[in-house]
Amino acid sequence: MGKEGFKGYICRPFCAFFRDGSKEELACRGALLVEYMLNAGIVSPDMIPEKSKSTRLWNRRDKDMERTVCQRCPFQKADCDFQSDIPPSGAEPCGGYILLSILKQKGIIGIADIEEADNAQ
Ligand code: SF4
Repeated sequence: MGKEGFKGYICRPFCAFFRDGSKEELACRGALLVEYMLNAGIVSPDMIPEKSKSTRLWNRRDKDMERTVCQRCPFQKADCDFQSDIPPSGAEPCGGYILLSILKQKGIIGIADIEEADNAQ
């Protein structure tokens, strides 16, 4: 998937931190794992829901998601409030994390698929 497709599927609809025109070179790990799943055919574009997110998706800490999605993310240590030791109130994860949570909640993927994507990177 090219960078434009990546932004269109993942960042623009789901990520509160995405800014059109930003020259950000690094992608969050959540988005990279979604991209891997799309390229590997684990997820197809028609499975990606319309823009929809709810704080219920991330209000309760999900240790499996944090281990597989966030542990190796380049933003985790310094830039991600959601993953900080004491997250500020209202801290939201990135769009990739949110999209993975939606796909997981809908039963389209399981933690094993996320682990497979994590191990393949
Ligand atoms: S929630 Fe934060 S640490 Fe986790 S993948 Fe997204 S940007 Fe990275």
